[in-house]
Amino acid sequence: MSTKSNPLNNTSKNSLITPAITRFAPSPTGYIHIGNVRSAIYPYLIAKQTNGRFILRIEDTDQARFVDGATDLIISTLKWLGLDWDEGVEVGGNFGPYIQSERKEHYLRWAKKLLDEGKAYADPTTSDQINTYREEAVKNKVPYLYRNYRPENPPEWHEGMPIRFKTTPKSYSWHDEVMGDMHTGPEVLDDIILIKADGLPTYNFAHIIDDMEMNITHVIRGVEYLTSTPNYLALYEALNIPVPKLVSLPHILGPTGGKKLSKRDGAKSVIDYKNDGILPEAMLNYLACLGWNDGTEQEIFSKSELIEKFSIDRIQNSGARFDETKLLWQNGQWIRKIAAEEGIENLYRRTLDFWPETTANSTDNYQIQVLSIIYDRLKTLSDLRTMTAYFFSEPTIDISQITSSKFLKKFTTKQLQDFLNTTITSLEKITDWSADNIQNSLNALLAETELKPAELFTLIRISVSFASFSPALHLTLEVLGKDTSINRLKRVSEQLS
Ligand code: GLU
Repeated sequence: MSTKSNPLNNTSKNSLITPAITRFAPSPTGYIHIGNVRSAIYPYLIAKQTNGRFILRIEDTDQARFVDGATDLIISTLKWLGLDWDEGVEVGGNFGPYIQSERKEHYLRWAKKLLDEGKAYADPTTSDQINTYREEAVKNKVPYLYRNYRPENPPEWHEGMPIRFKTTPKSYSWHDEVMGDMHTGPEVLDDIILIKADGLPTYNFAHIIDDMEMNITHVIRGVEYLTSTPNYLALYEALNIPVPKLVSLPHILGPTGGKKLSKRDGAKSVIDYKNDGILPEAMLNYLACLGWNDGTEQEIFSKSELIEKFSIDRIQNSGARFDETKLLWQNGQWIRKIAAEEGIENLYRRTLDFWPETTANSTDNYQIQVLSIIYDRLKTLSDLRTMTAYFFSEPTIDISQITSSKFLKKFTTKQLQDFLNTTITSLEKITDWSADNIQNSLNALLAETELKPAELFTLIRISVSFASFSPALHLTLEVLGKDTSINRLKRVSEQLS
């Protein structure tokens, strides 16, 4: 197969004005992972952009690969990402059923039509015979093609016998909206199986029938189907049906960029990211931009912006590298965006599953205060678990954290204790425990102790949190409250003696 040219602008905006009918057609063989979810996102965006329809169809004709619960997982993943479908499983529609194993008679009807027209035939070959043909081809160093062994007088078809397509080997040229103009020779054409011995269709046949019956205008799927496209084109021709726009999405590459993202690279289920505290907005944003951009520097796109700006002609034709660091960065941006646009209370509602267990006795109001001083440091919502524990329970005192700090190791424990006691006396005098008053008091303490901010503030910060990170000190103290802050400083001061 060769690529003649690769024009970037091969889909004019005008062609998108007609409502697009697109589909996501996963096989329920496991979870949806990062590598294949763009085949749901892009068709969704195109359908919404053109006021068309987005269909969810389940392709379960390979019963051996069927995994229990996979369809539910696909459904919950799409719902979580906000990719609601207009037609398909669960919601129904005019062209159902939308589960292939329930559409057997549709495929058989079309296969029989091809049989009647002499464009398909009943295949009596046993699997042993096929193996012999394959071995022969290997021995003769020629590619195995079933059509070279096509029976001259095929038997009458009966149930339990596969039906094969009788192909006419020839060259094909076609246009792929991402990969450009393609050309193949006759050698890639074979008599592919349409209906298997178990009565179910192959993917090769079923998707063509379904796409036709469901009026699909754009077939958007992974590039792994590109090599089979000539066989599909032969089928479209034999069935005398128009070819939808073909859109092949390049692979998503592993973090090192060399090869396709695999489970070994940690290609997790999309829904696992939910449990890790990734926001669906960020996931959608990140994945949509993995191999697509709008031609500007913009990196944060809401769903409605994606719907408005997405275009097939800006999908990259080479693999895009999966970079988890970027996903985390984008998630952090989305956390701030939600806080800014929807308010901290709404952000709080999204965080409920991610707090430390010790929050059981605290109020929503207190947690909102904690969130409001820490949200701009979060990369994932689950960072709350590790970053906020000391707001809800007394931290374990570890004096070595103080004495080994690079800012504090030059002081004796006596000096450190004196600094803490001075701090306590000063903070105790604050009547109105507000961030501003605390900040003024801390500034006065710097003058009084002649310590540098990094020294005094590190001492106080560690003493109240024993955490590797805390938000700005005056805010941390304000949220902890006067009693808790001072009690913690006193406990540490006592231990220093
Ligand atoms: N069932 C196929 C898969 O999961 C879908 C390919 C297509 O979209 O046509 O890879």
